[in-house]
Amino acid sequence: MLRTHTCGELTAKNADTSVTLCGWVNTRRDHGGLIFLDVRDRYGLTQVVFHPETAKEIFAIAETIRPEWVIQITGKVTKRLAGTENPKMATGEIEISVEKLEILSRAKTPPFEIDNTVAVNEELRLQYRYLDLRSAKMQKNLALRSKVFQLIRSYFTAQGCLEIDTPCLIKGTPEGAREYVVPSRVYPGNFFVLPQSPQQLKQLCMVGGLDRYFQIARCFRDEDLRGDRQPEFLQLDFEMSFCEQADVQTIIQGSIESILKECSPKKLKWGKVETFTWQHVMDTYGSDKPDLRFDLPIVDVSAISKGCGFKVFEDALTLKNGVVRAVCVPGGAALSRSEIDTWTALARELKAKGLAYILFKEEGPQSPLLKFFKEGFLEQLQKATGAKTGDALFFGADKFKIVCASLGRIRLEAAKRFNLIDTTTHALLWVTEFPMFEENDDGSLTFSHHPFTSPNTEEWKRRKEEPLTVHSICYDLVLDGYELGSGSIRIHDPVLQSEVFEMLGISPDDQKKRFGHMLEAFSYGAPPHGGFAYGIDRVVMILAGEPNIREVTPFPKDQKAKDLMLGAPSPVPAEQLRELEISIVGKV
Ligand code: ASP
Repeated sequence: MLRTHTCGELTAKNADTSVTLCGWVNTRRDHGGLIFLDVRDRYGLTQVVFHPETAKEIFAIAETIRPEWVIQITGKVTKRLAGTENPKMATGEIEISVEKLEILSRAKTPPFEIDNTVAVNEELRLQYRYLDLRSAKMQKNLALRSKVFQLIRSYFTAQGCLEIDTPCLIKGTPEGAREYVVPSRVYPGNFFVLPQSPQQLKQLCMVGGLDRYFQIARCFRDEDLRGDRQPEFLQLDFEMSFCEQADVQTIIQGSIESILKECSPKKLKWGKVETFTWQHVMDTYGSDKPDLRFDLPIVDVSAISKGCGFKVFEDALTLKNGVVRAVCVPGGAALSRSEIDTWTALARELKAKGLAYILFKEEGPQSPLLKFFKEGFLEQLQKATGAKTGDALFFGADKFKIVCASLGRIRLEAAKRFNLIDTTTHALLWVTEFPMFEENDDGSLTFSHHPFTSPNTEEWKRRKEEPLTVHSICYDLVLDGYELGSGSIRIHDPVLQSEVFEMLGISPDDQKKRFGHMLEAFSYGAPPHGGFAYGIDRVVMILAGEPNIREVTPFPKDQKAKDLMLGAPSPVPAEQLRELEISIVGKV
């Protein structure tokens, strides 16, 4: 090795020994006729000092050194003078008196300061990611990511799982997103699809008798990006045979608990993992991934709103699945007009027609709605929601889904605005009993998890008459308001699988073309099986307290799905397209 120690390990115990360090020049300070450098590597910073009298020839070279040059120094570890120690630095008790200096690499002036990237524009950071990675924050986040990988590997191995890799060039596997396609040169006009997840392959591993599988799997989804999404991301993917829902949950829960225990100082709210049904969390928190570090429940006021005098509420109740609901925000009467306007715009983005509200001011309730209310309705609302002076009520009156989405969002905004989130705990919960199907705008059915999820077999009998009332054996794990992942007990009976495809409007012919391999595999003795997958980047993001997964992803795409460092995606040479028999025709 070109060094005897790293830049993060020397202390007073090493005083008077000779050492060699390598690293980047973090900062240079000239004072009192001496030159001080902080030399940086992954492990920390060490102060090195050049004395003009003891090292004349290298002093002149040291004067030319600039930040980010890579140097090797040899010298003696010296205790710093009393009063000049730096208790904030692990190596703050000592410095190195340099006797030998080697410049290993020079650096241009970097586009931003490495030790102060907070204020740097993200595009610049992503364009120069290799420089950004040198920052203390990114080094810390990626070390945490690596630790999470190790914990996952050791946990699932201890659970008797085999780590099995599955290919990235496959045939489509529907998970609800658009797919990335890869043209085949050997079979022009044909395409591979990048996996949205290894779903079908892990199930085929179960048919293959592998019993327990895990993989840190790369998944690709071509969808609109948000803070907690990337076009490619990593999942812990897990599958087991001869199991029931609770068996999968126990193993997955144990994995997340082991990661939290090692990587987070926070305790679990409730002292354990809670379980709620999908219906309960939608009704009470307006979301299937509620942040339960705070309460703020949504209250159904449909029954008392019948004939209440306010037409918007009355009309909502005549809709299919129409409801009137309210959330009471303690202290909300203090909200300004413009804050309410912002919240109204958020509700509108989620398809609500507006955001009705009542502010319970000291001088009395204030709201444009009051003039419409029949005598006694306001008091009924207060009784139902517990709203008192100083609070605000926000309403949703529409179809169930729209009301859930808009009030669920208002609940979150209110918690942030009034500091209601208990950030000293983690709220980890299971959401269970999801509906098997969701209705598309055109009335057709789509799956709510994926088409390989087993329905509740008792309820399946009424699928033709009341498909939307059938539940699946599916479960999501939610941490602090983020969906970590989903799983389900799978279908292993080819007849049932075919029936589900049929309900989803996939014709027998299409079933054969798209999923013939699954139906065929299930006809050769498939074990009952189930599994789960959680987003590793998302877990690391939460643990690191970062607002988006780009901060914990080594080389992320930007918010427009571009790699700014590599300049991808980019056109390919015409010759390559010719080989693939592809011509670019512009917008079709
Ligand atoms: N394949 C599913 C997903 O990516 C997870 C699972 O059902 O195991 O969400």
